[in-house]
Amino acid sequence: MEQAPSSPLEVLQRVFGYDAFRGHQEAVIDALVQGKDAAVIMPTGAGKSLCYQIPALLRGGTAVVISPLIALMADQVSAAKAVGMTAAALNSAMDFRAQIEAEEAFRDGRLDLLFVAPERSSLDSFHSLLSAGKVALFAIDEAHCVSEWGHDFRPDYRRLGALCDAFCDVPRIALTATADARTREDILGQLRIDAGQLFVSGFDRPNIYYDAQVTTDADAQLFAFLKAQPEGAAGIVYCQTRAKVEQIEQKLVTQGYKALGYHAGFEPAVRDQRQRRFLQEDGIIMVATVAFGMGINKPDVRFVVHVGLPKSIEAYYQETGRAGRDGLPAQAFMLFGGQDVAQARRFIDQSEAPEAEKALNRQRLQTLVEYCETTDCRRTPLLTYFGDTAPGRCGNCNNCCDPPEMEDVTEPMQMLLSAVYRTGQSYGLHYVVDVLLGVPRQKLKQDRHADLKVYGLGKERAKGDWLDLGRLAQLKSFLVPNGEGFGGLALGPDAKAVLTGTQTVLRSKNRVSAGAKVKQASKSARREIILEAGDQALFEALRSWRFTEAKAQNVPAYTIFHDSVLKAIAATRPSSQDELLGISGVGQAKLDRYGATILSKVSGLSKVSGS
Ligand code: ADP
Ligand code: ZN
Repeated sequence: MEQAPSSPLEVLQRVFGYDAFRGHQEAVIDALVQGKDAAVIMPTGAGKSLCYQIPALLRGGTAVVISPLIALMADQVSAAKAVGMTAAALNSAMDFRAQIEAEEAFRDGRLDLLFVAPERSSLDSFHSLLSAGKVALFAIDEAHCVSEWGHDFRPDYRRLGALCDAFCDVPRIALTATADARTREDILGQLRIDAGQLFVSGFDRPNIYYDAQVTTDADAQLFAFLKAQPEGAAGIVYCQTRAKVEQIEQKLVTQGYKALGYHAGFEPAVRDQRQRRFLQEDGIIMVATVAFGMGINKPDVRFVVHVGLPKSIEAYYQETGRAGRDGLPAQAFMLFGGQDVAQARRFIDQSEAPEAEKALNRQRLQTLVEYCETTDCRRTPLLTYFGDTAPGRCGNCNNCCDPPEMEDVTEPMQMLLSAVYRTGQSYGLHYVVDVLLGVPRQKLKQDRHADLKVYGLGKERAKGDWLDLGRLAQLKSFLVPNGEGFGGLALGPDAKAVLTGTQTVLRSKNRVSAGAKVKQASKSARREIILEAGDQALFEALRSWRFTEAKAQNVPAYTIFHDSVLKAIAATRPSSQDELLGISGVGQAKLDRYGATILSKVSGLSKVSGS
């Protein structure tokens, strides 16, 4: 970038088009500008990129950004170029000439940003390249990858310590959205950053509506949820297996949704192409395993659905955090079943991991189960997990907006547990329920079970209700897999308290009626999005212009303008370059490039035409 910039605030306004810093941004930027290090833990969407981009412009030289995903570097480069910065990537996926060009540009001091993959950082040739130019700072993105403790450990990140040692005078900034206490320690230690330079923002993502529902009919629940989403909303549906991904993708496509499947079993070219479409086009639903998503900067992802349990609270927060980076209302919706918990528990029990690790994994699973099960504000288990204080009632989760009515189910739970006990703790849930329902003697695997005291004892409840109680029993560890591996259930550690009547069991009455709640959620999601009809038409026109432009330049649509910017334009209808510049998210470079086109679209589509 040519012009000599003056202060961080001036750069923020002129280059990025924003009025003021958010949260710790300014403190972090000041630290780096003064040559100090920083470790930044901020939730997704908080604005971590500016924390290294602005110092890059102010310090002179090139900021070397370590970024784990080669596939996304091109987008990071185009996003930087879109605001007028000079940027290049350097990775093994580029052809030789492009690599040479990037190296030359770096040596000549022509780059504000250079994106590199972590594996390069330990190469001698890379060290000599860095010595031949001027490094303004190192930015280590997704820094939680250095920690073996975290859920995304990448061995290459371990080598970054050596890079830090070799260039110890260059300030470093580590950035991540997710790090519990131990991961934070690892980041500081591995990347040689002083504990005093740790900047942790509140973890809350107030614009995300959290909802989790027991699976009763997964397809129906998923469709009800999708139907309640705003027209053309982009989202991600996470599934646990590749087979499930393909199955749900198929169903959505059949229903007319623009859905794309994504998992590690697809060829890299297919994955890249689908990821690109997700970034470039509006309204795509990505149906994916967790192989998808890291580093995805798409700001207008409106929802993230989990069909089945995520791996941990940490993973869940990271995955759902991909929704609503633009700060507009977004939704995190999870469908979970007792079976999922039982299965996850079995995986842990059967794994070869040392006992201490198993214990830890059990504890992690328990935290997740508590999140699923809670009938209080969902932000409470989420935020306390990250050591944040929770608001108590957030007003933006299903439990706050639609408080569940509780019923006492101690007695039927006792019946269920005693039926499991009396049938010998060797049968699955369906069979035990059959015994409780008193199905004909001939239909039982063991006809002597018809002589038990519990036989037919549960006739007055519907089968579905018993099955739901069974799921609840598994979630609460009253029932656990019996260890024989055929779905048989045994009494769990907490069953005794229920059977002896020392523990009361409560169940939320609307556990089973997810559809109604989903509608409620969508209302809050629409709160800020509604434009008047005429403005909506202009917004659509701007969006389709943006799509054509993104395609022509082969860049993600959001690097041109975010939805929020297009909306603000549609609602305020600027009539001059100055007015356009006043809109948040419009900086000088974008004004120069698109200003005239936008203004002509605005004046061309006058308000009367739509309403
Ligand atoms: P993160 O990397 O923390 O997830 P990003 O750096 O992608 O977040 O920023 C999220 C969005 O917020 C981006 O579109 C960015 O341009 C915008 N943003 C960042 N800082 C500010 C600010 N101070 N004012 C307004 N918008 C901002
Ligand atoms: Zn709440």
